[in-house]
Amino acid sequence: MFEIPSELARRIRLVVLDVDGVLTDGGVFLGRNDAGETIEFKRFEITDQLGIKLLQWAGLEVVFVSGRESGANRARAAELGCGCYEGPGGFKLAILEQLHAEHGLGWEHTACICDDLADLPILTRAVLPVAVANAVPEVRAAAVWQTSRRGGDGAVRELAEALLRARGDYVERIGEYVRERGGRG
Ligand SMILES: [Mg+2]
Repeated sequence: MFEIPSELARRIRLVVLDVDGVLTDGGVFLGRNDAGETIEFKRFEITDQLGIKLLQWAGLEVVFVSGRESGANRARAAELGCGCYEGPGGFKLAILEQLHAEHGLGWEHTACICDDLADLPILTRAVLPVAVANAVPEVRAAAVWQTSRRGGDGAVRELAEALLRARGDYVERIGEYVRERGGRG
């Protein structure tokens, strides 16, 4: 896998994370409680967390964008200080256009990491389109960079590290993180 070009990495100000199949392995655990309410659980990979925080500390906006409404997504996004945007039925393009307008950003500042067909309208517009290792072939074909990790198995952490290394920020950010915790890194 080639490295993300530095000039491209330094233009990124918004990192869009698809949720199902990127932050998770795509599995959804559904049940009902005694009151008949639907309960949903997902497994989020914990190593992605530090990757997201490193991106935020580097000054990048990191958001979750999902084609499905999910309390589990909103809970995880809130925990990480990320915006969480939902476009039921997989309508994500309007969400991104709104986000760009709100933040004064454009596709030339946007990285997206995705896995499935609903992502193509945003993936094909972003300046840095990224596919997870197990993305569908159409998404892999549209991406300029692909993680070696699968969705829900550290793909977001891998992208965060590659992006920060390409920007020249990674060693500095890791050093700060370790020193803040009493280390000598
Ligand atoms: Mg997905």
